[in-house]
Amino acid sequence: MRPIKVFSKILPVLIIMCFSHMVKAQSGDQILDGIGETGMVSRYIFNGDLKDWSRNNLHATYQGGQPKFVTDSKFTKVLSFENKNSESLSLPSDVLLNIESLSISAWIFSKSDSKAQTIFDFGKNKKSLFSAYQEKGKLYVSFAGINLEGASLPLNKWSHLVVVLDAPAKTISLYADNKLLAEKTGSTIDFAKLFGSVSLEGSTLWIGNSALKKETPLHGLLHDFRIYRVPLSKRQIAGIYNNVVKGVRQDQSRMGKVEDNLPEFPITQTQLYNSYLMKVSDVQVETQVGELPRLPSFIQGEYKDNMVGPKVRVIWPAPIDNAEVLKAGQYTINGKIPGSSLIPKAIVTVKSNANSKVPAVQLTAFPLEQVSLNTDANNQQTKFIENRDKFLGTLANTDPNSFLYMFRNAFGQSQPADAKPLGVWDSQDTKLRGHATGHYLTALAQAYASTKPDKTLHKNFAQKMSYMVDVLYDLAQLSGKPNNNGESVADPLKVPVGPYREGYDSDLSVEGIRTDYWNWGKGFISAYPPDQFIMLEKGAKYGGQKNQVWAPYYTLHKILAGLLDVYEVSGNKKALDIAIGMTDWVHVRLNALPKETLISMWNTYIAGEFGGMNETLAHLAAITKDSKYLKTAQLFDNIDLFFGNADHAHGLAKNVDSFRGLHSNQHIPQIVGSIEMYRVSNLEEYYKVADNFWYKAVNDYMYSIGGVAGARNPANAECFTKEPSTLYENGFSAGGQNETCATYNMLKLTSNLFMFDQKAEYMDYYERALYNHILASVDENTPANTYHVPLRPGSIKQFGNPNMTGFTCCNGTAIESNTKLQNAIYHRSTDNKSLYVNLYIPSTLDWKERNVIIEQITNFPKEDQTRLVVKGEGNFTINVRVPQWAKKGFVVKINGKQELVKAEAGSYLALQKNWKNGDMIELQMPFDFHLDPVMDQQNIASLFYGPILLAAQEPEARVDWRKVTLNAKDLGKTIQGDPKTLEFQIDGVQFKPFYDTYGRHSVYLDVTLK
Ligand SMILES: [Zn+2]
Repeated sequence: MRPIKVFSKILPVLIIMCFSHMVKAQSGDQILDGIGETGMVSRYIFNGDLKDWSRNNLHATYQGGQPKFVTDSKFTKVLSFENKNSESLSLPSDVLLNIESLSISAWIFSKSDSKAQTIFDFGKNKKSLFSAYQEKGKLYVSFAGINLEGASLPLNKWSHLVVVLDAPAKTISLYADNKLLAEKTGSTIDFAKLFGSVSLEGSTLWIGNSALKKETPLHGLLHDFRIYRVPLSKRQIAGIYNNVVKGVRQDQSRMGKVEDNLPEFPITQTQLYNSYLMKVSDVQVETQVGELPRLPSFIQGEYKDNMVGPKVRVIWPAPIDNAEVLKAGQYTINGKIPGSSLIPKAIVTVKSNANSKVPAVQLTAFPLEQVSLNTDANNQQTKFIENRDKFLGTLANTDPNSFLYMFRNAFGQSQPADAKPLGVWDSQDTKLRGHATGHYLTALAQAYASTKPDKTLHKNFAQKMSYMVDVLYDLAQLSGKPNNNGESVADPLKVPVGPYREGYDSDLSVEGIRTDYWNWGKGFISAYPPDQFIMLEKGAKYGGQKNQVWAPYYTLHKILAGLLDVYEVSGNKKALDIAIGMTDWVHVRLNALPKETLISMWNTYIAGEFGGMNETLAHLAAITKDSKYLKTAQLFDNIDLFFGNADHAHGLAKNVDSFRGLHSNQHIPQIVGSIEMYRVSNLEEYYKVADNFWYKAVNDYMYSIGGVAGARNPANAECFTKEPSTLYENGFSAGGQNETCATYNMLKLTSNLFMFDQKAEYMDYYERALYNHILASVDENTPANTYHVPLRPGSIKQFGNPNMTGFTCCNGTAIESNTKLQNAIYHRSTDNKSLYVNLYIPSTLDWKERNVIIEQITNFPKEDQTRLVVKGEGNFTINVRVPQWAKKGFVVKINGKQELVKAEAGSYLALQKNWKNGDMIELQMPFDFHLDPVMDQQNIASLFYGPILLAAQEPEARVDWRKVTLNAKDLGKTIQGDPKTLEFQIDGVQFKPFYDTYGRHSVYLDVTLK
């Protein structure tokens, strides 16, 4: 026994060492049993209540009196079904919204088998569609007329039941106690068809009885009933089972990769252009002591038969600190080319006195009101206008009282008649409530600024904005001021525990919420009491229980950003005052904390997510010219991420990848904050953090649509992959990829960086992610929009929030993205001597500062040219973007006459002249087909035509990648179609722009070149 004991002591230490980086940042139970949180629809533990323990708040309700909970030796407290006809548990129909596959896992203690017993029964319009029941010694699962059977669960004993409906694999499986009892393949699984995709009305989702068959109540006990939207793998099922039976620590199961592997290819097999590769050139790179070199992700290669191939993707080692560059000198790094034995070398010179140049701000964005979107050259609506109008129309019909509901609720105020609360993450019990209100304020401000010519809409948004601010202002005024009895606590540090309770808690239920706002300190505003902020300081983790929090500062960031946006477009002083009052509150609390506490808070998974608090507070410092707020902003420095440790030894500031495996949208806004901190403080470290992060995110973590999240390892669809440049090995999470809010933030970061450094690669990325993710994330006929945008074979986009009544994070950023689609088309230099034309979108720019109007007339991307007409005059430079993909040339005509220019793909071309009224610039940039391979699996690639990602239109779900063979020397030779519609065919398969794709799609293909 002895050696085993020793081993069991050593093993946890080893595990902690290997994963200390990740564990530190990911503490929380949200990779439950090795399965990422986004895969979970709902979870009912039944230890005394019927609450959904996932973040989706899909609580169950009991029909037939009071639910009976009994004590149990195995699971402490469980739900008891007494075999009464009147008993059942009903789930909200939203459980089945936007799902493709479905898994159910539950612990059942069966007490009798004398008659038929329903475990669960899901149906619609009085028809049973998906059920599990026991009868006469058999266990049955039935789905849409397909039946599976096995031996019934043993009596008087806990059993683990799992049913998996795997849509891509077309398989239905039934497990009991980790053993496969039955399986049917070749089964079409389509929930949208069965239950409806827009409305789930008429659905009955029952546990413990059937709404639809004869009365068949359960006689037994239930514990931990979970619903997943991913097909659980054998290993995940074993994980759930063994973690209970053998008591394995839950977080150990996240050590290995989950079993939802993608098709594998021989590691040594050269793929795509690499099959033709003969030689690669070495690269010379310089850096300064302490900073890891920036190595080029693509280098020049030589191909067989004088073939012209693309630059070669190289994967370089990615150290976790800067030990290699602590001394001046020279060293060599060997890189890898996937599937090739060629070893590219980087010769790095480390200099002790290199002067790193950090740029100052050069450009500024135009206010939204100065740029308007136009119809195209043929007077047709563009996708930009279509999407914008879906949002403006629905936004105009929203009720501000819905967005104020939980604020009034927190402050114990009555609701106006007819006021309805929002759902999803702003419902009563949700610890993130109020987040949508922040996005709403920003969206209203942007909509207000963008609709000046439309008096009705403009007025509508103006009224909503000022009403929102008035109500929030009055509430904030109450906080920390004497109540009717003259009691109050004004000091934010002295906020007491709520009445009749022992400690701070996050109970927001109707019965449990504290509303003693006079005790909350002056200036406090949120849609919940101050407890979550205080609990986070004391080490509370992310979760749904009373002693857990969600992300108080994330929510607050949205609210403060919204208030400042309203102030900036309308000058509403009350909005600014609310923001100042709350920032003062935050300053007092955080300023009193030791640095170690702040470091630990900001490293806590989700709970410590603070959005872009640093960005908004730096912005507030700039607005108020009060440096105190810059100090408040600095209290949000994520020290480990930015600077490696408290000594600022490495981290992103020294070009070390310190974000691998972390939650992507928790951290991208912090980087947006870092560039804003640089703008306001001039501290160079902040610039380097943002600049280094951007390069790594785009080169080492990006999918072809521009998204960066979606890890299989760690098992969390919202995370960056565990290691950089391993998208195929560790990405493509089955739970989804490309969280849309993360791309919203990547775009914000990108355009902010461009203000400092006018590299075309920034706007190349912007164009890619704008057309192929943001534009592609909105439903065809409503403003419903995506959370993840899945890119596994035969995926389908799922859209939510069509009526703006229930918001996730991504629904929140969507109302922002789609009310500012015009904001990066043009930028100007701060001295007004030059203009940047970044994007080719039909639009009009009112360059008020120069009294010049630029009209852009085009059918782009349905043609490869655009015209810029100058109205007004003056001597200035117009910088036009020569896109990276424009490799077949770039033709410039001014007033019909071709200019002799040297336009390099991936640069800006400066056109300087004394412009006259009516001058016309014509730009032509021939589109071409090109491939964008996954860095570590080159044959898996996306097909682009110019900037536009083309998706194969798939008839049904699939598990393997669609295979296509293309001409190696000219891809276009194997592709038919019409550039004017952007619709193409390869071997009879239809390809359309991804932004125009609403059915099943394959964005990645398995490409062979011939
Ligand atoms: Zn999101």
